[in-house]
Amino acid sequence: MVTIGVLAVQGDVAEHMRALEESGARTCAVRRLTELAEVDALVIPGGESTTMSKLLCAFDLFEPIAARIRSGMPVWGTCAGMIMLADTVLDGRPDQRSFGAITMTVRRNAFGRQVDSYEEDLHIAGLDGGPFRAFFIRAPWVESVADDVDVLARAGNAQNGPIVAVRHGAVMATSFHPEVGGDNRMHDLFVRMVKDCLSSRKEQCACDGD
Ligand code: GLN
Repeated sequence: MVTIGVLAVQGDVAEHMRALEESGARTCAVRRLTELAEVDALVIPGGESTTMSKLLCAFDLFEPIAARIRSGMPVWGTCAGMIMLADTVLDGRPDQRSFGAITMTVRRNAFGRQVDSYEEDLHIAGLDGGPFRAFFIRAPWVESVADDVDVLARAGNAQNGPIVAVRHGAVMATSFHPEVGGDNRMHDLFVRMVKDCLSSRKEQCACDGD
């Protein structure tokens, strides 16, 4: 079984942990280095990216998480978590930091303010079982991605709509809150990604040992 951490400095930590467990993972709330060391992968929940950045630096967690991501730890950022994974953040605070795990430009609060929060049925590439009810809460969108980044969904399911879900290898980012609404398919997808990533790494190690 894989162990997936949920970054627990703020946001819907319990909801993500429940959904991941229902999807067959062991979970761990990550607030300390010792907890980070125990996990195979990490979910960065929604919240407020400026605050999250500040807290991660204050708790001396920013650099250790960045190092784990650089060394290939699978990670999924949702909403504020998506912003944390970007390499370029628009409409951010000047002192806000992000991990640069995906080459993409993300605009904070792109859909407008709290009153502009909305929900819609999204077609997500690679997700079986029909559209996914997506909840956008002061959400960011992705303005551009590098060529090697997969675009999984666009707002309004429109061909040129704003990008709201992306994946690059073992790193995934979604603008919406998948932990709201009781549909665990996005969590299932991430658990599968983590399992695939760990098993291909094991094969790699076995080959290296030959
Ligand atoms: N607007 C928030 C930010 O900039 C994200 C909102 C959310 O995570 N629901 O971080």
